Amino acid sequence: MGTFPEAEARLYNNVYICRKCEGKTRVPIGKVLAGAASCVRCKCKQLRPVRKKNKK
Ligand SMILES: [Zn+2]
Repeated sequence: MGTFPEAEARLYNNVYICRKCEGKTRVPIGKVLAGAASCVRCKCKQLRPVRKKNKK
């Protein structure tokens, strides 16, 4: 039993991590690109995608 692509997509799509407090926030990508997304905990707007693995 492992993770499958659909489950991973559900877990990681539209989920961003705050760079300051590392709180998870679920926001649509459009909102992030528009700069309208902010961390729910510290209100900062510096978010990064959840997965930052260098897979290439
Ligand atoms: Zn934060």
